[in-house]
Amino acid sequence: MADCVFCKIIKGEIPCYKVYEDSEVLAFLDINPNTPGHTVVIPKKHSANLIAADNSDLAKVLVVIKKIASAIVAGVGAQGFNLGVNNGQAAGQLVEHVHFHIIPRQAGDGLVHWPGHTAKPEELAKVLSDIKHKLG
Ligand code: AMP
Ligand code: ZN
Repeated sequence: MADCVFCKIIKGEIPCYKVYEDSEVLAFLDINPNTPGHTVVIPKKHSANLIAADNSDLAKVLVVIKKIASAIVAGVGAQGFNLGVNNGQAAGQLVEHVHFHIIPRQAGDGLVHWPGHTAKPEELAKVLSDIKHKLG
C-alpha cells in the first residue's frame, strides 16, 4: 500500500534497523521500544490486520519469530519476551499493516502487565455464551 509506513520500509523508502529478512518476512527494531531489542515482525504482503492476513503469511511470520526471538533475547541480555499483536484502533493498533511485537523482558524491568480481575462464574458463563453464539 502506497501510504503504509511498513510497506515503505519493505521497499527501502524508509530506513530501518533490520534484524531479519527473507523473501516473505521482515523484522526490524521498533523506533519507540518498550524495552531494548523490541522488534517488529511483518509479512511483506500488506494486510491491514491479523484477521485480514493470509493464514500462510501468518504461519511464516510465526516461524521467523521462533527463529529470531532467542537471539534477540540473548543479544540484549534479557530473560524472556512478550509476543504481542495490537488488532484494531481500540486495541492500540497505530500502523495498519499486520505486525507482531517481540518485547524482550527482564525480571523487574518495570513493564506493567495488563490488569485483571477475579471474575464471578456467572460473568464467565455469560461471556462464554455470547462468544459461542458468534462462533456458530
Ligand atoms: P502498533 O501500535 O501495534 O500499531 O505498533 C506500531 C509500532 O510501529 C510502534 O511501536 C511504533 O513505534 C513502530 N514504528 C512506527 N514507525 C516505525 C518505523 N519507521 N520504524 C520502526 N518502528 C516503527
Ligand atoms: Zn503495508
